[in-house]
Amino acid sequence: MSVYEEWGLRPIINASGAVTRLGGAPMPSAVLDAFRAAALECVPLDELQGAASRYIAEVTGAEAGLVASGAAAALTMGTAAILARFDLGRMEKLPFTDGFPNEMVMAREQRNGYDHAVRAAGARLVEVGFHEIVAGAGVRRAETWEYEAAFGPNTAGVLYVYDGMPPLAELVKCAHAHNLPVLVDAAGELPPRSNLRDILATGADLVAFSGGKSIRGPQATGILCGKRDLIASALVQMLDMDDHFELWEPPANLIDKKRWKGFPRHGIGRGFKVAKEQIVALLTALKLFVSGAYDQELPVMRRWLDKVAAALEGLPVRCHVNVPADGQSLPILYITLDEKALGRSAIEVCRRLRQGKPSVQVGHGMLHESKLYVNPLNLNEERAAVLARRLREELI
Ligand SMILES: *Cc1c(COP(=O)(O)O)cnc(C)c1O
Repeated sequence: MSVYEEWGLRPIINASGAVTRLGGAPMPSAVLDAFRAAALECVPLDELQGAASRYIAEVTGAEAGLVASGAAAALTMGTAAILARFDLGRMEKLPFTDGFPNEMVMAREQRNGYDHAVRAAGARLVEVGFHEIVAGAGVRRAETWEYEAAFGPNTAGVLYVYDGMPPLAELVKCAHAHNLPVLVDAAGELPPRSNLRDILATGADLVAFSGGKSIRGPQATGILCGKRDLIASALVQMLDMDDHFELWEPPANLIDKKRWKGFPRHGIGRGFKVAKEQIVALLTALKLFVSGAYDQELPVMRRWLDKVAAALEGLPVRCHVNVPADGQSLPILYITLDEKALGRSAIEVCRRLRQGKPSVQVGHGMLHESKLYVNPLNLNEERAAVLARRLREELI
């Protein structure tokens, strides 16, 4: 019996990958073991974050890092660090920023729902460039000079959602010439594993990765890594600070106590606290991810997808299994529907799959192209067989 049945729910078949809405990625057993073991003993959370910083620095090349409660939380904490630095008065004020620079400059075409996390810290977004390609009104992307033209006395930094344009290294160089830090949302940019290092190698000051996607850590974890001073500022604004300054012994690799005249009370990130179990589990998952251990599963996943595709032969659909050449990214099965022959739309098929028993959720990002897709991350042999049956029933 499923643990969820005790609470009146039936587990679904998640064929859409590490999406947050459906619970993220499956944690490997070594990660679950670490989570459980971590729960049985106590350690000071700041020292644990100090240890996390050392390991994150080792695998990313950053000066420092911390475990946040998701990439979105990492964006809020990174912004809080950029806005307040080591200024205790500013830390106390956030998210109110009257009297100090609070503008984060970003490309209009990179705006997305997750930038709410940056605004939540108190930043105001200043958009540059246009979205000409989506508008069908031009061929150009946002350009570095457009950011520079928007810099002024109220600029606090630059927000960049990783996608290659404008080239990040060029943008970082320009921002640094104006003494402005660059915060990068790279939540979904793993794999390739090389991005753990390559994005920081552009000189970016802070980079946020999701812990509950490809790294397969707990769903509510993320990584913020980059410049030591900014990570230190983010950490003190996130940790529980109910201590005496005289007794406070912050991790020396992260925080130089001599530079602090006092320490803040609970900061803007107190509500984003990360549990010791989550930190240890995320570090364990990161170790597995970095080792390449997940790559071995790719051929097995591909066989599940091939079987699903084979089960749909003869139906009014076209199947294609895409196998990325990097040897690290998951294979994906694309199912293109002949909506006319089927007599129903892709969205209707999606709805019926969700409403069936068991409920099945396939990738729904390409419904406008009459396509469903299957991400194998949360499947196994048995679930793949059930998925094949349910797809056959709805696509006949
Ligand atoms: C998933 C995602 C996030 C949020 O990551 P969480 O770890 O779920 O908080 C932020 N930005 C982008 C671009 C993402 O894809």
